[in-house]
Amino acid sequence: MDEKRVSLLSDKPVNENGDYVLYWMQMFKRPVWNHALNFAIRKANDLGLPLVVYEGLKYYYPWANDRLHTFILEGVNEKREAFEKLGIRYLFYLQRNEGDPKQTVAGLAERAAIVVTDDFPCFIIPGHNDAIVAKTDVPVYTVDSNGVVPMACFEKEEYAAYTIRPKIHKLLPEFLTSFEEIEIDKNDSGLEVDCPDTVFDDEDIPELIADCDIDHSVAPSPVYKGGRRAGLKRLRKFVSDILPGYHETRNKPEKDGSSRLSAYLHFGYLSSLEIALEVQNAEAPDEAKEAYLEELIVRRELSYNMTRFNPDYDSLDALHEWVQKTMREHASDERSYNYSAEDLEQGNTHDELWNAIQRELRETGEVHNYVRMLWGKNIIAWTRSYEEAFSILEHLNNKYCLDGRNPNSYAGILWCFGKHDRPWMEREVFGKIRYMTSNSTGKKFRSKDYIEWTKRFENGGARTLFD
Ligand SMILES: Cc1cc2nc3c(=O)[nH]c(=O)nc-3n(C[C@H](O)[C@H](O)[C@H](O)COP(=O)(O)OP(=O)(O)OC[C@H]3O[C@@H](n4cnc5c(N)ncnc54)[C@H](O)[C@@H]3O)c2cc1C
Repeated sequence: MDEKRVSLLSDKPVNENGDYVLYWMQMFKRPVWNHALNFAIRKANDLGLPLVVYEGLKYYYPWANDRLHTFILEGVNEKREAFEKLGIRYLFYLQRNEGDPKQTVAGLAERAAIVVTDDFPCFIIPGHNDAIVAKTDVPVYTVDSNGVVPMACFEKEEYAAYTIRPKIHKLLPEFLTSFEEIEIDKNDSGLEVDCPDTVFDDEDIPELIADCDIDHSVAPSPVYKGGRRAGLKRLRKFVSDILPGYHETRNKPEKDGSSRLSAYLHFGYLSSLEIALEVQNAEAPDEAKEAYLEELIVRRELSYNMTRFNPDYDSLDALHEWVQKTMREHASDERSYNYSAEDLEQGNTHDELWNAIQRELRETGEVHNYVRMLWGKNIIAWTRSYEEAFSILEHLNNKYCLDGRNPNSYAGILWCFGKHDRPWMEREVFGKIRYMTSNSTGKKFRSKDYIEWTKRFENGGARTLFD
């Protein structure tokens, strides 16, 4: 496991006088099925030390808002309970505003023998990891618990699904296997730790959030509740009721026909390995399982591969040369509509289906995969430049979607511009990039039902996805 999942970022000496091993939990927010936690426990046991798990939530990360904060806070108390049972000290610190204490990880690291943290290939995490290396005098390890196959099994950026798929399938017998939880030898009783710890009851979450200096314009999701328990509940429903027909229902956004687990995967409440094993062992037709595992493993891990190896993953520079060429040739094509960022955000366009997709995103915090592609393609068609389209897509996706700010966010957005795809027949504005219209896409599912379904969430309406 260590060889492929663990990286040593700073080769400094272990602090022989350290009081604990520090695991800084950033993305894999779970007390089980977590390779990073397991590695930290193993190191603590080797050193004969207890383990401190630290999780922080700051007020100034990009797109910080009530929806994202709530989803994170809803997962805190169940972790506190779980770690207490495991004999591991868990600290959660909510930094509300500029006046609150800073540099908590660096402070905790001063008394740590070593630091372990999560290897996540995009958003603010790579910067966090570089910063903690610069600020500490002990070894810093990062551990990849993102996917079924470790990212380090690939040496470079893969061109498309068809290039990574055979490699993943070859590696599955080695990595799609059960996970062994390790117990801590030395529990945390009597351990003195100098760090702020925000202890709260779940009913106080709205009040806590109101006190944070974040964007209060995006309400918590009425239907997706944060935490591992909520994720497991959805996983059980998916495996028993939805998976058997997934190959037929996954492209029907008007139905409860896909897993809708991406937010739980993004925040690490569930591990893709545990989901994949549940699916593999489920009572369901092979074609359903294969269709699902293709999305969960091949497509998802292609995205992680892109953000790990392509430093331009958050811009149009990540696109292949054939796309760059076709965009240059069509940059000045006249657009049939030019909507402002504000019109798009409010869902004020001529297209009822598109407005409904934007409504699903704004009101629930997620968008179904099938319509998400159309959503992105239409933003390209209706803005003045490809660059403007990319920046609006990134902003809306990352601001409203619980699963945003993820490798899948960037791969999904760039897919709308031809990433991981092939050239298609040339046309206005899109050039050789694949084109989608609401007219033709909307005929492939019951779009009227979908539009009506999105209206149930308006003005604080429905609190369940489907009745
Ligand atoms: C413009 C655009 C933006 C996107 N932004 C995001 C995002 O911010 N976060 C995100 O997780 N996904 C994103 N996707 C990919 C996809 O739309 C979502 O993963 C999917 O809608 C999640 O729904 P689900 O959990 O019901 O998927 P299911 O159909 O149940 O699939 C199972 C899992 O496989 C993975 N998966 C599914 N489709 C894809 C895909 N096309 N690429 C990579 N992995 C996939 C997800 O982890 C998903 O939870 C985006 C796609 C597009 C076109």
